[in-house]
Amino acid sequence: MIDRLNIAIVGAGIGGLSAALALRARGMNVTVFEEAQSPREAGAGISIPPNAAILLKRAGLCEAIEKITTRSQGLTLRTSRGEPVPRPSATPTVPSYQIHRVEFLEMLLGAWAGTVRFGHRCVAVNDVGSGARLTFADGAVCDADVVIGADGIHSIVRREIGLTASPTSEGIVAYRGLVQTPKTVVGRRLARLEHVDGRRS
Ligand SMILES: Cc1cc2nc3c(=O)[nH]c(=O)nc-3n(C[C@H](O)[C@H](O)[C@H](O)COP(=O)(O)OP(=O)(O)OC[C@H]3O[C@@H](n4cnc5c(N)ncnc54)[C@H](O)[C@@H]3O)c2cc1C
Repeated sequence: MIDRLNIAIVGAGIGGLSAALALRARGMNVTVFEEAQSPREAGAGISIPPNAAILLKRAGLCEAIEKITTRSQGLTLRTSRGEPVPRPSATPTVPSYQIHRVEFLEMLLGAWAGTVRFGHRCVAVNDVGSGARLTFADGAVCDADVVIGADGIHSIVRREIGLTASPTSEGIVAYRGLVQTPKTVVGRRLARLEHVDGRRS
């Protein structure tokens, strides 16, 4: 049994950095490889539901999150006609958050403060008996006890371990946007998010 595994994570997105922080909290030696030359995240907000908040709390990140977001008062799902979709009424004991993606990634990077090797595009993963070898586009290689593929929907790591299924579209379209927090305040200083189901029925 190896106490301190050398773990290589491919992809410095939200998934890769969250995994890096969680593994380091367990005493693992982690290096993250990212194909972009610098951090990148686009888009709008992201919901952090209670199950994800529990994991981030375990990695010691709740205080950092609360500095850049507000706790969510709740989530209401509505049909295209505006009718609320009934949900179980249990009050969550763990908070959930709405957070800007760029700020979330910056917070994860700041908390990580470990090695992220930018400009490393993984092109191959090979079994070398004692572990795995990553090969990068510039010819560099890295051996690790464990490799984690967090390289997104078109994952090279997934392809390299023989999982060839392609993502399939469900035909669902999402519109993303940002609303200033003061405009979402309902009475108290807490944001409430509403998801509207835009499918025609
Ligand atoms: C409209 C929309 C709304 C969503 N809302 C939510 C939400 O509210 N809550 C929630 O939890 N999830 C939400 N999701 C899902 C969530 O956004 C994704 O699951 C998450 O962003 C995926 O993160 P990731 O780090 O796994 O992948 P990515 O963000 O895709 O990151 C992959 C990283 O790997 C790098 N990379 C790729 N290939 C290589 C390579 N060969 N070598 C090295 N690096 C590589 C990329 O440059 C990138 O930095 C939403 C998704 C969509 C589309």
